[in-house]
Amino acid sequence: MADYVAFRRVCVFCGSNPGRRAAYVQAAQQLGRQLAADGTDVVYGGGCRGLMGALADSAISSGGRVIGVMPQALVDMEVAHRGLSEMHIVGSMHERKAKMTGFSDAFLVLPGGWGTMDELCEALTWAQLGIHNKPCGLWNVEGYFDSLLAFLDHAVAEELLKAKDRKRLLVGKELSEVLAAMRSYVPVWEPVPAKLRD
Ligand code: AMP
Repeated sequence: MADYVAFRRVCVFCGSNPGRRAAYVQAAQQLGRQLAADGTDVVYGGGCRGLMGALADSAISSGGRVIGVMPQALVDMEVAHRGLSEMHIVGSMHERKAKMTGFSDAFLVLPGGWGTMDELCEALTWAQLGIHNKPCGLWNVEGYFDSLLAFLDHAVAEELLKAKDRKRLLVGKELSEVLAAMRSYVPVWEPVPAKLRD
């Protein structure tokens, strides 16, 4: 039984590679099991490889629902997972991120490379602009993100990132810690001109 209220759908960003440490794949599998146990749908990029594939396989085999969103070009590269509850094929990476955001009520980031960092930064930038007010958690598995977090502190010290915006990223070493922080997140909400949202 979870000690927090479950989200309806969580969008997970994570690597299309498995990484060097077994702990990364184990973390993706743990997250899949946890979200399935909570009755929370997984929304993700729809891939069958790496941490993405491990997350989806684990959620599905634990009885969870998994929704993939993938551009046709990636489907053509045969990296699409074939056993998802739903797969949405879109025209571009931009459309994919917008759809994944629209489907979800929270974001959770696991170790990954450029794609994961792009998605993380976009989720936080859109929150900063008031385009959405969804929590964004980062599971710092085995300290993978330590140097990124140190860089964010540097960006605050250099006054290029506001401390209140730095706090939008909810970091934890344990999954339960990240999920609890996401659950109790109070959005830093500022009205934004409608033209930025549309
Ligand atoms: P990366 O962190 O560079 O491995 O990219 C992973 C993230 O970018 C995922 O959350 C996906 O949404 C997207 N992505 C990048 N490469 C792929 C791929 N080969 N298959 C599926 N999604 C990918």
